[in-house]
Amino acid sequence: MARLTDPITILKGVGPTMAKRFAALNIFTLGDLICHFPRGYEDRTKILPIEKMEVDVPACFKAMVMNTPRTAHIRKGLDLTKVQVADHTARLTLTFFNNKFAAEQLQYGREYIFYGTLTGDFVGYSMTNPVFEALESQPMTTRRVLPIYPLTAGLSNAAMLKAVRQALAICDTPAEILPESVRREFGILDASRAYYAIHEPANMAEAEMAKKRLIFEEFFVFSAGLSLMRAARTEKKTAPYRNLNLSPFTDALPFSLTGAQKRAIDEIVHDFSSGAPMNRLVQGDVGSGKTMVAAAAAYLAIKNGHQAALMAPTEILAEQHYHSLSRLLTPLGLRIALLTGSMTPKQKQQVRTALENGEMDLAVGTHALLSDATQFANLGLVIADEQHRFGVGQRAKLSAKGSDPHLLVMSATPIPRTLALLMYGDLEVSIIDELPPGRKSVDTFLVNESYRARINAFIRKQVQEGHQCFVVCPAVEENEDLGIKAATVWAETLQKTVFPDLRILLIHGQMKGAEKEAAMTAFARGEADVLVATTVIEVGVDVPNATLMVIEDADRFGLSQLHQLRGRVGRGGHQSYCILTSHNRNQETLARLKALCKTTDGFKIAEEDLKMRGPGDFFGSRQSGLPTFRVANLSMDLQTLKDAQAASARWIDTEGTADTPEAIALRERIGTLFARAEGTMN
Ligand code: ADP
Ligand code: MG
Repeated sequence: MARLTDPITILKGVGPTMAKRFAALNIFTLGDLICHFPRGYEDRTKILPIEKMEVDVPACFKAMVMNTPRTAHIRKGLDLTKVQVADHTARLTLTFFNNKFAAEQLQYGREYIFYGTLTGDFVGYSMTNPVFEALESQPMTTRRVLPIYPLTAGLSNAAMLKAVRQALAICDTPAEILPESVRREFGILDASRAYYAIHEPANMAEAEMAKKRLIFEEFFVFSAGLSLMRAARTEKKTAPYRNLNLSPFTDALPFSLTGAQKRAIDEIVHDFSSGAPMNRLVQGDVGSGKTMVAAAAAYLAIKNGHQAALMAPTEILAEQHYHSLSRLLTPLGLRIALLTGSMTPKQKQQVRTALENGEMDLAVGTHALLSDATQFANLGLVIADEQHRFGVGQRAKLSAKGSDPHLLVMSATPIPRTLALLMYGDLEVSIIDELPPGRKSVDTFLVNESYRARINAFIRKQVQEGHQCFVVCPAVEENEDLGIKAATVWAETLQKTVFPDLRILLIHGQMKGAEKEAAMTAFARGEADVLVATTVIEVGVDVPNATLMVIEDADRFGLSQLHQLRGRVGRGGHQSYCILTSHNRNQETLARLKALCKTTDGFKIAEEDLKMRGPGDFFGSRQSGLPTFRVANLSMDLQTLKDAQAASARWIDTEGTADTPEAIALRERIGTLFARAEGTMN
């Protein structure tokens, strides 16, 4: 018996050359091969009499070869082989292109099983390039459900299937990790049957059963792993906060907190008094007031003798937080410092010294906070804003500057529930699902180029009323992707030919930090009427006087991204608008954009986005630390995910530390999964 860790080169037909091709698919061992699952199946189980075959519907049939195949050389590179076959119902001519194998193998008077697609009309039927096997041979390509594998150059589906079949014959499938009780409860196949059937299903129903089992297994391992991590963390101890009086803070606010903000703060207070480090994600749509929740947390941490740090993904955002938090917290006697990369070395040094000596209570900054030069006297709370922009490793790095500090992460990107569970399964989640009162929803419209004059008139109207406008373009400069608006070019066009009398500013990702900063600050101060931008403005920025956002070529953005962008307006008391332009004619694309016009529920939009684009694209390629699932599809297998999560939670409680073979194998599997995910982070 071979082992799962044995190299695939022990298989017949897998030499060094083939091994290289398998390596391109990350297949090195028999185990890798057995875990290389088909991406789909072709049902070739049906064997029909020729007469019963339907045109254009592929099927198998058993037939005898009625003559010696004749090959004609049509021209260079084109040989045609024709052969007559028949069963007891009908006769059929088969045609093969450049198929020496068929010409040589098919013998007059012998029977074969063919699989092919009938074409034809009243003149007669024919079939081109069917696959065939001798009647007495083992079914490989006919009379079965054929798995279709992800392949690579030089590696055919048949070669893959052969290798997999050999591997399954000489070694055991991966160990059973699902407890019997769970398998029974959810009616799922045991491991050996599932791993076998995913490659060699007796029928389509069995293929489905095998897939279901393997999806369940993936989710189960993953959520059990997260639960174990969570359990390990709650074993850490920290002194519970004694002073939990927030009244001085809430009394100082110019408004009263929303119910959702209060709930989130209550949950944080509960964590603070629990004696274990907090690990909490605050999720709330743009404008839901997460900053206040963070401020309340910082206030309490500081009143309990700790320092706090708030990390933001951009300088603009860090500065904005610095200003709004200073306004609020300085009068309450808190000392707040800003630390960003673009400050002078001397300024940075001053701030760092103050933090190290405990002369500052709250540090607001960018990645500069992560540098080794930044040390804290007594860091007790770490807050990461726009969490999804940071890797798990970065948030850990900041945490390491204190001793088991409380952690609060905030995300304005509404992350679909399932994805949140996966990404943040090790975090508790508070959801702010309520906007501050008086907030008007942003009226959103989808238009095409024929509305250009009206759009321009509308921009002018907003400006005349004393408001400001954003114009967002998908590209910075013109490139080969003609027909999409580039911010640089469009800003110039607007300034020169459309609005020569208005003040137009430009901001995009290729500008230097200081230039971006200057443009954004000027716009926020009302020194410009129109800001032409790329998605750099997506995150956090607050300009309450902006009432209109025009998003050019809106079909170029993801729905969640559009929703984020739209959140930049409607932050003051004035009715605000968002105009999406697109000359895309694809009905589905337009339907999605129209859906965005109708709803302002970020979570709904995110779910829609996830369905369209899949989890990999959801955060763009930058997102790291998400495990890849071989079989599971996050947007389609929701119920299975929930079942697996519930089952794994119960498993942790009852059998998590048991010595059954399943429990041991499961803990081992969790170990490798998370070791691998760690490897891909940052
Ligand atoms: P986000 O959740 O997008 O980070 P912010 O914290 O930036 O939202 O808040 C958006 C705006 O709403 C800010 O101007 C803030 O002062 C204001 N705000 C926050 N909470 C309330 C509240 N309870 N009532 C009224 N305005 C609020
Ligand atoms: Mg925010």
